[in-house]
Amino acid sequence: MKTAFWFRRDLRVYGNEALIEAVNEGARDALFFYCKSQWQSHRVASIQLDLLERRLLELGNQLSEFGITLHIIEATTFAELPEQLQTVCDDNGIDCLYANKEYEVNEVARDEACATVITLKLFDGDLVAKPGSVLTGSGEMFKVFTPFKKAWLKLFVGQQFHFPSWPLDKQHDANFKKPAFFQITNESEKWPADDNAIVTIVNRFIKNKLADYQDDRDFPAIKGTSGLSPYLALGIISPKQLIAQIQLHYPEVLENPSKPEFCWVNELIWREFYRHLIVAYPRLCKGFNFNDKYNAIRWRDDNQAFELWCNGQTGYPIVDAAMRQLNKTGWMHNRLRMIVASFLTKHLLIDWREGEAYFMSKLIDGDLASNNGGWQWAASTGCDAQPYFRIFNPITQSEKFDPDGSFIRTYVPELKNVPAKHIHFPHDYLAAFGGNDDYAEPLVEHKEARARALDAFKV
Ligand code: FAD
Repeated sequence: MKTAFWFRRDLRVYGNEALIEAVNEGARDALFFYCKSQWQSHRVASIQLDLLERRLLELGNQLSEFGITLHIIEATTFAELPEQLQTVCDDNGIDCLYANKEYEVNEVARDEACATVITLKLFDGDLVAKPGSVLTGSGEMFKVFTPFKKAWLKLFVGQQFHFPSWPLDKQHDANFKKPAFFQITNESEKWPADDNAIVTIVNRFIKNKLADYQDDRDFPAIKGTSGLSPYLALGIISPKQLIAQIQLHYPEVLENPSKPEFCWVNELIWREFYRHLIVAYPRLCKGFNFNDKYNAIRWRDDNQAFELWCNGQTGYPIVDAAMRQLNKTGWMHNRLRMIVASFLTKHLLIDWREGEAYFMSKLIDGDLASNNGGWQWAASTGCDAQPYFRIFNPITQSEKFDPDGSFIRTYVPELKNVPAKHIHFPHDYLAAFGGNDDYAEPLVEHKEARARALDAFKV
């Protein structure tokens, strides 16, 4: 039997257990199907595709040094894959493929269809805990994060994670040829795509920032988070590798959840929670509210307000700075994602699905499970979500998390001369001292918008 490896969102050589198993079975071919039309229908952002292409070049070169050929095949939609896959496998004499699972419904359906034409061995390399392994006493998926986390920890406390060793020696020079259809624009160039640079980012974060993460993580003007989400989203690094790396510095990190260094692991567990959720509730991938009781909400149809939100022109500086950060860089700080998602769904009463789709189309780390989880959390429709009556006040959030306004000033130059005291809601100041022609009027009044949201959610 001739085995090969099928890459998807697991674009790494090291720490890719499924790849290692395939190589140990003799695999010297690897496949990647470039399904642009399918991804466009999933609204994958151009910046993420750019990182994906840059990473595939790295991967192709890296694999070629070990005598493994990466075949990148231009494909269209998942519907056409079984036929294409069969042709590629026939041409190369491949009769068994190893791959890592993707958990979204279209990806699962793709694999089921492909399994009718070739033997597929699927692994769970994108997660620490396999879906279905973290369950309540009655064998169900948890609906609350904290008990999920406790059960997750029970599985791994006392375990030291290791990097699996890579079985081959380098024997060749890198010689991968860029596919003619690649359109690398370097839109994603701020995120290096090579292992050395990425390992440096991981190590620097763990050594210099992890201990302060708990204190710094909510302040967008501070670089207090890891910035690793684009790599996790494409499987360029895996959560197991990250925990192994943390354990080198903090061997008992999983045993001490109250210590500051655990706080970051907690976020990785949120990531696992949302992935387990889409497996347990595949309808989440199809735009359904997690919580049916909110199906009755009458979202407002207001294209103009939506456009202003997208473009960072709501008249609420922290919201506008955040949206401009997203539009300019393809990434947004987590605290800001919560603030803008809350503003769209509560203050503007616009359907979370519109925000979810816009985020996907812009984010370098766009990822269905985390994005859906985050949006439904903010909209209060989700699993273990923010209660509907807790509505973020964008002004007090701004005062608390960007106290001197330095983040706002970075992205909203119209306000660069406004003193910190006034910058969180500068309209009276601008009216008195000039400059209100440059900056947007507030799209809604906070108290009125809050009352309108409460009414809509009560229904
Ligand atoms: P760190 O703070 O360094 O966290 C480390 C890693 O943990 C992250 O890289 C990420 O993989 C994971 N993580 C952190 N916070 C969360 C969280 N709340 N939920 C799930 N995983 C988390 N994350 C995405 O990866 N893709 C998305 O499309 C996405 N959309 C979001 C939409 C909304 C409305 C919200 C509120 C959150 C969303 N998140 C998403 C989660 C979170 O905002 C990002 O993962 C985080 O900001 C990435 O920055 P970082 O790598 O510096 O995170």
